[in-house]
Amino acid sequence: MHMSHTAEIIAVGTELLLGNIANTNAQVLSQSLSTLGVNVFWHTVVGDNPERLKEALDAARRRADIIITTGGLGPTYDDLTKQTICGAFGKPLILHRDILEDIRTFYESALHVPMPENNTQQAELPEGCTVFDNPVGTAPGCAFESGGVHVLMLPGPPHEMETMLRRHVEPYLRKLSCEVIVSHDIMTFGMGESSVDQLLHQRMSHMENPTLATYAKPYEVRLRATAKAADEAAAEAMLAPVVEEVRQILGDVVYGVDVSGLPEACLGLLKEKGMTFATAESCTGGRVAERITALPGASAVYRGGVVSYWTSVKGAVLGVPQEILDQYGPVSEHCARAMAEGARRITGADIAVSVTGAAGPDPDERGVPVGVVYIGLAVPEGTFCRKMDSGRRRRDRIQGVASNHAFDVIRRYLTGLPIDRETEI
Ligand code: ATP
Ligand code: MG
Repeated sequence: MHMSHTAEIIAVGTELLLGNIANTNAQVLSQSLSTLGVNVFWHTVVGDNPERLKEALDAARRRADIIITTGGLGPTYDDLTKQTICGAFGKPLILHRDILEDIRTFYESALHVPMPENNTQQAELPEGCTVFDNPVGTAPGCAFESGGVHVLMLPGPPHEMETMLRRHVEPYLRKLSCEVIVSHDIMTFGMGESSVDQLLHQRMSHMENPTLATYAKPYEVRLRATAKAADEAAAEAMLAPVVEEVRQILGDVVYGVDVSGLPEACLGLLKEKGMTFATAESCTGGRVAERITALPGASAVYRGGVVSYWTSVKGAVLGVPQEILDQYGPVSEHCARAMAEGARRITGADIAVSVTGAAGPDPDERGVPVGVVYIGLAVPEGTFCRKMDSGRRRRDRIQGVASNHAFDVIRRYLTGLPIDRETEI
């Protein structure tokens, strides 16, 4: 019923081989092609050299039916992509007078200089091709089909390439394919990647369409369910039972579908309930505050917070009683609870979350081991605490996991789940 296409991306440019720049064009193109359902099995990088480009083209046309090149469309002597491709595919170059006039106009009105004569070659394109205009530069791109292989040429400068990709290449490729690809990201926190994998392995290994794949994000696990179908509605219908089944199997570690992370999930829940929150952070140094304020619309739910790094600030600003600090120390369940209560009191927020722990590399002065972090949550019904022990990880990782725990206790409270149980990460 359907035919899936295979594309090869050939990036042309000696500066790529020298390591002067990274091949970001291939990355952007590959991301786009994967959402279009086009297989990409090869990325090739070749210098500004006609013989080697010819070799790369010969290899590509044997193993792919879509070849996309980037770079080498400019007006200078080293820009040889078009000439080489036309040679390889036996296409003459034809001068397009209207394109030449466009380029001349671009120079005169946008750059206020006369067009250098060697720009003429940018207006030469393979006979019978589809022209991709370039509204943000001069070199147009183009595409032609020859013996069942589609060849697309795009300019090298990334913003020109990307503009052309969205405007022309994606619609061009969509027409070639008679199916759509739809994905949903199922977001989890609280279970390690290997446990997730173990629980789902049986299910995943037999799947062909839809597919289910796990990705370990920093501090959490994302699952992506992907379906190919004739249209979007059909793909959605195939995905719905998969998403439901994953929710069933993994349970309440699933915190959302198609959300960017725990902060966004919390933002949504707090908005829905018309509630606000505040933070009191020690070892995360404001990371929880930073992550919520990175989201547009955070002001509707986030009142503010205190980075109470010194014990004296925990006492003087948040009102943590001196007896708690003396008896249990700043890294303790008692202190975490008092910090959250203090933040809630001084900000007037509905709920407040606190983080205090030993991020390392040295244990805290009372000998609390690295990786032990207490997350407090003060809410109208009372105060809760979760102890997290992420072991001897690197400092920034402990801080990252701890900030996720802070959002996780908020999300679990707002969805009526128990919050003080031990988690796996
Ligand atoms: P121009 O008209 O500017 O010469 P062009 O199509 O000939 O464009 P190149 O000369 O190959 O393209 O590259 C132009 C610039 O685009 C390079 O200097 C480089 O900064 C960037 N570039 C080229 N190829 C890539 C790539 N694969 N990934 C990221 N950037 C690239
Ligand atoms: Mg160039």
